[in-house]
Amino acid sequence: MTMTCKTAFLYHEDYLGYDFGPNHPLRPSRYKDTLALLNKLGVFNEEVKHYKPNYASQDDLMLVHSQEHVQDVERKCEAGIGYLDYGDTPARKGVYQAACAKVGGSILGADLIMQGKVKHAFNVGGGLHHATRNRSAGFCVFNDVALAARYLQKRYGLKRIAIVDLDGHHGDGTQQIFYDEPILTISLHRYGRSWLGRFYPGTGSIAEIGEGEGRGYSVNVPLPEGTFDEAYLEAFNEIVPPLIEKYEPEILLNQFGVDTHYQDPLVGLSLTTKSYVEISSALHQLAHDVSNGRYLIFGGGGYEPRTVSKCWALIFITVAGAAAKNVELYQTLFDKEKLTPNLPHAIKIQNTINDVKKTIFPLHDISIC
Ligand SMILES: [Zn+2]
Ligand SMILES: [Zn+2]
Repeated sequence: MTMTCKTAFLYHEDYLGYDFGPNHPLRPSRYKDTLALLNKLGVFNEEVKHYKPNYASQDDLMLVHSQEHVQDVERKCEAGIGYLDYGDTPARKGVYQAACAKVGGSILGADLIMQGKVKHAFNVGGGLHHATRNRSAGFCVFNDVALAARYLQKRYGLKRIAIVDLDGHHGDGTQQIFYDEPILTISLHRYGRSWLGRFYPGTGSIAEIGEGEGRGYSVNVPLPEGTFDEAYLEAFNEIVPPLIEKYEPEILLNQFGVDTHYQDPLVGLSLTTKSYVEISSALHQLAHDVSNGRYLIFGGGGYEPRTVSKCWALIFITVAGAAAKNVELYQTLFDKEKLTPNLPHAIKIQNTINDVKKTIFPLHDISIC
């Protein structure tokens, strides 16, 4: 039996303005499509609701970003010419406003959870984990994940915040922002060579463990191209729960980009919805076990538009414990494919898991066996 928890779905129609043009891989329609799918599934009720955020203010943005960066984005988007980074993230009219709405969604999620109005919240437009203090990067204008964490520290005095980043790409911006602080930041991502040279963004090796007071609090699980459900789940289960249980975060933040899906055209990992269901269930349970149920989820990558909304709807329903009234439609959310595990991969990933544990666990007094 599943129990329904009060859960918020955060969406603002201005998320659709996060539009980098018709040939760009990020399709903003996926936000609207996820909400429409949840409506069709019949998921919303008194406990499980859609909330519309306000725009983040420039003061909010400056919890993480420099004033120069914020104003630079505003100016370039107003002009609508050129790029916000080195060529992935075009400056277009409406993008600044949309980015502020997205950050507003993550802040509203934090407020709703901390004020006890909901246990869980999912900002479908959030998860912009590549942005750093001074620059946009990789389709990410402002880092709403890091902003939510800073906001929770400042507004609610939280000390222990865990961030689990499941996007197919390394959460480099978030890691950099907290690198010398004891904020537990765990990222599972594809890493290594690709046809372009190195797989984007190129960081996220096991050796990046944080520094100073942050030593041991940046945790990276680099995975090879083609990583499939069983190996991914083993990496997750062996590394993430022990660290979260030991750290006992006051809130669990989770960037849940679904560009890890086997149909995604950009990443090349091979997950199916099996992984998303198991992992969102596990993190939901961990949040109830150690964080008083406080669990804030962000979207992120996902570039195959038809699968993205299905994956996010499934994750949302799993966490909310909501029964979909439209059972037939609910069944269509699950991948039916069974992908064949690849043995050399399994061995390589087992070695990676062991290396991560050997590097990180002693720093938290967790035994390795
Ligand atoms: Zn719950
Ligand atoms: Zn990604």
